[in-house]
Amino acid sequence: MDRNSDLLTAGAAAACSVPCNLCGSTHVRQVADRDRHGDPLRTVMCVECGLVWTDPRPDEAANRKFYAHDYRVRYKAAASPKLKHALRETRRAIARFRRVEPFLRAGARVLDVGAGAGFFPFVLQSRGFDARGIEPNQGFCAWGCEVLGVQVASGFLQDFDFVDEPFDLITLNHVLEHLPDPGAALGILRGWLKPEGLLVVEVPDVESDWHAPDKRFHIGHLYNFNRENLVRMALTVGLAAQDILIQPDTRHINVVFKRVAPEQPGIDRRLPANALHVEATLRRHTRLRHYASPVPHLRTLRKLAGYVGERFAVAGIPSARAVVEREVRKAFA
Ligand SMILES: [Zn+2]
Repeated sequence: MDRNSDLLTAGAAAACSVPCNLCGSTHVRQVADRDRHGDPLRTVMCVECGLVWTDPRPDEAANRKFYAHDYRVRYKAAASPKLKHALRETRRAIARFRRVEPFLRAGARVLDVGAGAGFFPFVLQSRGFDARGIEPNQGFCAWGCEVLGVQVASGFLQDFDFVDEPFDLITLNHVLEHLPDPGAALGILRGWLKPEGLLVVEVPDVESDWHAPDKRFHIGHLYNFNRENLVRMALTVGLAAQDILIQPDTRHINVVFKRVAPEQPGIDRRLPANALHVEATLRRHTRLRHYASPVPHLRTLRKLAGYVGERFAVAGIPSARAVVEREVRKAFA
């Protein structure tokens, strides 16, 4: 049964426990009552701006379950990463580097927030940039420091203050959607940028059809953006979009923001036309349409080809560190 689509069609006003993080409204519609695993997770959409969030917030027990599960698995992988994981992460880091390279001046000072085991700072460092990361997972940090030789400090955003040592570039790759107050987080990061400094944010697009409609929502993702409300949220704290890239297939939204004046006079936080657009997109993307489209088959093929390619690519390589070094050498030969 397509529960989430049924809920959307009902379209009734609903209550929320957290006001909209962009416009402050409490006028919402419920858009889902299950997460991608079929577990209860209530998701609402602001009818004033189209921002989508988990409401009520997952309780402590649910949060612990999530972090104990997903993050323990990832922690183990990072404490002694499999070669194929090191390969995948390095390739992603190189792709991220290609994206930001045109915006970087020589020797730029860069911070990666949610840096994981430090693959992205490693690639930057290998290209002569002054890069570091912050990351809540201690296992990732330790591995990055010891094996990759990069500076990845352990902690959450609120544990740090870089106001007095600002950056040319800060990156936030699939992090913002996990934060309980993304608007405030963007404001903090703006304060850590040099004048005219850049912030690069990548998040999933709530409008993407890459996942089946019942696989859309995830307990770790407290917020679900689309391009319009992400760009507007950043503008409210003094970050203006300079360049917007929609990643092929996944449709992840990748935006290069530039630090501008903190107060944008007369800015309208409401985007009612966008809310209608988001709602229509969610409603249109039914399970029937999804499985009748080429998208799920393309995803499966892409995954299979990826696994096979990765096995060949790491055959005979002695260590994760050697995998990382070889990929970087090949990429910049
Ligand atoms: Zn709103």
